[in-house]
Amino acid sequence: MRILGIEGTAWAASAAVFETDDPDALSTETYRTPDPSADHVFIESNPYQPESGGIHPREAAEHMGNAIPEVVDTALAHAADRHDGDGPIVDGVAFSRGPGLGPCLRIVGTAARAVAQTLGVPLLGVNHMVAHLEIGRYQSGFESPVCLNASGANAHLLGYHNGRYRVLGETMDTGVGNSIDKFTRHVGWTHPGGPKVEQAAKDGSYVDLPYVVKGMDFSFSGIMSAAKQEADAGTPVEDICVGLQETIFAMLTEVAERALSLTGTDELVLGGGVGQNARLREMLAEMCEQRGAKFHAPEPRFLRDNAGMIAVLGARMLNSGDALSVEESSVDPNFRPDQVAVTWRGADES
Ligand code: ATP
Repeated sequence: MRILGIEGTAWAASAAVFETDDPDALSTETYRTPDPSADHVFIESNPYQPESGGIHPREAAEHMGNAIPEVVDTALAHAADRHDGDGPIVDGVAFSRGPGLGPCLRIVGTAARAVAQTLGVPLLGVNHMVAHLEIGRYQSGFESPVCLNASGANAHLLGYHNGRYRVLGETMDTGVGNSIDKFTRHVGWTHPGGPKVEQAAKDGSYVDLPYVVKGMDFSFSGIMSAAKQEADAGTPVEDICVGLQETIFAMLTEVAERALSLTGTDELVLGGGVGQNARLREMLAEMCEQRGAKFHAPEPRFLRDNAGMIAVLGARMLNSGDALSVEESSVDPNFRPDQVAVTWRGADES
């Protein structure tokens, strides 16, 4: 099976081709791939880089309008090279249906419908946040992990129960990456701010900032206001970066641990662009080690937004007959992970 994936929820115009001849990689009974290093996944991406400020929806959509056709062409050329003659060059087209910026999603949806109809193959509408989770499950071979999605526009913990990924806990305001980016914009750094905070924190000392966890939920707005006030008061920005990392990641680690404990699960996967941060991975790995749980962080190209995760989940959805008609394929900027019926897992899995 060979699947084209298209991603473009916010900043990454990305197209990928996932292919496998291994039935276990797609089966509802087992969830293994013989080579999780994902040689099976070809990804072509073109990121949107704002000239100033954060992601501007209109500019991001303009970027998608130009870049999506280019990355799709490249991915389809790759698929054509690997095609041996009969039938369409891909067996299905998977696309990010949401959540994300509406104007960007509509371009992705239009491109996916056009390619699927031209090739006469099924259309697979993928939830972007579930894809962040499933790529970790695919690579690790974990059966039923709790997933910490630490991305730009989102932050939540997901666990599987009765046919859906349930939101066990989430941010009560902004996504984790977006809140870090708001601070870095305040101090005049270009987008994205997360990698710059990680770099600056190497030269800083800890500054105390508000720590807000309420049960399984958490909030970043107070910590961001406090961080901005520290910067305005002249506290070295490197020190604030250490405080931000230690505080925010401790909050995420605490709720991840609580989710593992409450669900009785001993598997944790990480998803989302903030997951590229070495200090976050270190804290989560240490917590898992202390409680005897397994931890998996996908390689960076599968953590940040990418079409590879869309293609991999699309393949599993196609394998379980979970395709969309064009009429029902509208995008959904607020598509929550718990709205998705998880058709690709075995019916006996709870
Ligand atoms: P979502 O997946 O929720 O739609 P998104 O589209 O914004 O979010 P992601 O690719 O998951 O995108 O994550 C991008 C975010 O990751 C940005 O906010 C960026 O600052 C942050 N980020 C990237 N690298 C790092 C890092 N090393 N440390 C901390 N944050 C990082």
